[in-house]
Amino acid sequence: MTTQIVDLAIIGSGGGNSIPDERFDDKSIAIFEEGVYGGTCLNVGCIPTKMFVYSAEVADTVREAESYGVHARVDAVDWPSIVKRIFGRIDPISAGGKEYRVDRCPNITVYPSHVEFDGRDEAGRYRLVTTDAEVRAREVVLAAGSRATVPSVIADSAVRYYTNDDVMRLEALPEHLIIVGSGYIAAEFAHVFGSLGSRVSILARGPALLRQLERDVSLHFTDIAREKWDVHLNAEVIGAEDRSDGGVRVSLKDGTHVDGDVLLVATGRWPNGDRLNLSSVGIDLDDEGRVVCDRHGRTSAERVWTFGDVSSPYQLKHVANHEGRVVQANLLKGWDAADLDAFDHRFVPAAVFTHPQIACVGLTEEEALERGLDITVKIQDYGDVAYGWAMEDTTGFCKLIAERRSGRLLGCHILGPQAPTVIQPVIQAMSFGLDARAMARGQFWIHPAMPEVLENALLGLHI
Ligand SMILES: Cc1cc2nc3c(=O)[nH]c(=O)nc-3n(C[C@H](O)[C@H](O)[C@H](O)COP(=O)(O)OP(=O)(O)OC[C@H]3O[C@@H](n4cnc5c(N)ncnc54)[C@H](O)[C@@H]3O)c2cc1C
Repeated sequence: MTTQIVDLAIIGSGGGNSIPDERFDDKSIAIFEEGVYGGTCLNVGCIPTKMFVYSAEVADTVREAESYGVHARVDAVDWPSIVKRIFGRIDPISAGGKEYRVDRCPNITVYPSHVEFDGRDEAGRYRLVTTDAEVRAREVVLAAGSRATVPSVIADSAVRYYTNDDVMRLEALPEHLIIVGSGYIAAEFAHVFGSLGSRVSILARGPALLRQLERDVSLHFTDIAREKWDVHLNAEVIGAEDRSDGGVRVSLKDGTHVDGDVLLVATGRWPNGDRLNLSSVGIDLDDEGRVVCDRHGRTSAERVWTFGDVSSPYQLKHVANHEGRVVQANLLKGWDAADLDAFDHRFVPAAVFTHPQIACVGLTEEEALERGLDITVKIQDYGDVAYGWAMEDTTGFCKLIAERRSGRLLGCHILGPQAPTVIQPVIQAMSFGLDARAMARGQFWIHPAMPEVLENALLGLHI
């Protein structure tokens, strides 16, 4: 067992790897990573999924080309070459990131192992233990992320199942994929596999898909999904087993079952704080398993900071990046500094990269009403603005919610082509306090570009 004393220990190499820059060169640092270097977003999250989504988009575009007078067809999808292209680009970045820390950062030691706290030593340093090393650190950053949750009825069975950790490396495109889950990860994988040629069955526990989103978006998306996938709503999984022909069978409470070739579980993510023995240093977890911290990223243990999925109410990379920058700045300022930076969670946007795409920011109509706000709402169809009309779009819309008298923008929910790009001006307006009137008429809107859907929605508000 080796022992090292460091100034700073960082648990997790996702957002955690971005903490040490040249301003930390005078500190001795340990980075612990039990999985693949670079964390979820790079290896098994945002980046590979969106690279698959792009392939899926290309296939969909070709399939829909006929409507626009372009004769084309998808002859075949070469799944192994898609996988090779994606991970042929990602894996070297992960390996290079680790190599850089190991070979080029003399003040940093990388521990490629699981680590947990084991109280504090007599000098007040935190003791962090792996199977073969102990590191004592004056200061610690928890950036341990989250992991896929698997319902016990599946986890405790002998069935072969996949999660986002391994489904993207399947050797062959499944003929029939069963997805348990109904959130954005389930929806994006349904889009990827469905558009690349798999038959997709989605088993959703609730009455709609993407239920955490604005009601209109969720209901509309569910309708669209039912046209292309085999969607089972209010479906409670009570068992799963491998079939003798190599496939899987998932049994539902209503007495029916769904047979397929591959089973993917996408039922949510749980923060990794429960695997760090945090009670040994007096750090609490809340009811959702998150590490409790203040808005500066400080936990209840002195000089232990946290950010990202392990503690954030938002499990999103852009939020982890933002919180990471706050913690990085605060590490340099010091635990007790009077001018600590703070997390800004006022207007956190999110997107779902399906076909059509989805993006949202701010309150839903229901939330605004629950808060007793006097609101005006406008739903603008894509098909009624020039570019959406050119695309002959029939499903897209933009729903805007604003405060009636002040014109203050409260929320925006878009389902349609380029939604995550179209919504960005609303995020900007909300972040900088621009009201609906000023936003609509205080600038030019390029004609006939897609953001005109937003301009028309703004003009349709009663303010
Ligand atoms: C399929 C999928 C798609 C996604 N798509 C998007 C998207 O499009 N946009 C978006 O904004 N977000 C997306 N996300 C979410 C995003 O990936 C996460 O919010 C983000 O990566 C969290 O970063 P983090 O630094 O908090 O944690 P992570 O990047 O997960 O890093 C934590 C690291 O800590 C390591 N670790 C944990 N415990 C220990 C321990 N005890 N010892 C040693 N190491 C440990 C883990 O192995 C992990 O590598 C997606 C997530 C998934 C799963």
